[in-house]
Amino acid sequence: MKARTALSVSQLPGLEYALNPYSGCSHACIYCYAQDVLRMDDGREWGSFAQAKVGLPNILAKELKRKEKGMIGLGTVTDPYQVSEERSKNTRYCLEQIARKKWPVCVQTKSDLVKRDIDVLARIEGAEVGITITTLDEELASELEPGAPTPAMRLEALRELVQAGIRTWVFIGPIIPTMNDSEEGLAELLVEIANIGVGEIQYDRLRLKPVLVKRMRAHLGERMNEIERLSNDTTWFRNVSSFIDKHCEDLDIVPKKAF
Ligand code: SF4
Repeated sequence: MKARTALSVSQLPGLEYALNPYSGCSHACIYCYAQDVLRMDDGREWGSFAQAKVGLPNILAKELKRKEKGMIGLGTVTDPYQVSEERSKNTRYCLEQIARKKWPVCVQTKSDLVKRDIDVLARIEGAEVGITITTLDEELASELEPGAPTPAMRLEALRELVQAGIRTWVFIGPIIPTMNDSEEGLAELLVEIANIGVGEIQYDRLRLKPVLVKRMRAHLGERMNEIERLSNDTTWFRNVSSFIDKHCEDLDIVPKKAF
């Protein structure tokens, strides 16, 4: 797939631009709604493809010269570290352009492949990396995100990023009722994050849309009944949220709700 543009204006808080080096995403998360955001319902199964946007680093280099400098969100729609990134290096080449022009960047990923680019990230003033970890339970993670690197691999990436002095944070989400919302699981995850030396998290609940209910029901069957019921119950998330906030306070982590 040939790239036509690189930077688009972002509506997300703290980001002026969005940059997505891949079309599609092989992480295949069962709670993903990127396919609808991208209006890519072309019959292909979501999670089965991820194509690098050809020529993107060159287009980006031109745009970085003429646009007003601002924070770039790298991977706001689909993950910038697909399996094929190892060979294509589309994301790495984009980061090199960003480093050259001294723009700030916020990378968002579920992949430990980001470790490969620590050398480039370390050269970028204002670089930060957010890694999503939905659970430490490997079995649950492989049910929720079958194509993504394991939670242990993501923790290791965090460790190396922190050691390299790069600003990091963890996104815990979506928090799905009855799946990854147990107090025990959340407490364990927060302790791991604190032990690594990450001082900031963002978290969010599952936001069900009709298309997502259909997608998740195909994977979870009747388990979706309770998930749907609790997702619409404001008390459920209020309780989860106060539990996280309280634990963060004890562990010296700054929590932010991603909404
Ligand atoms: S990593 Fe993001 S874009 Fe990729 S499948 Fe998961 S939720 Fe969707």
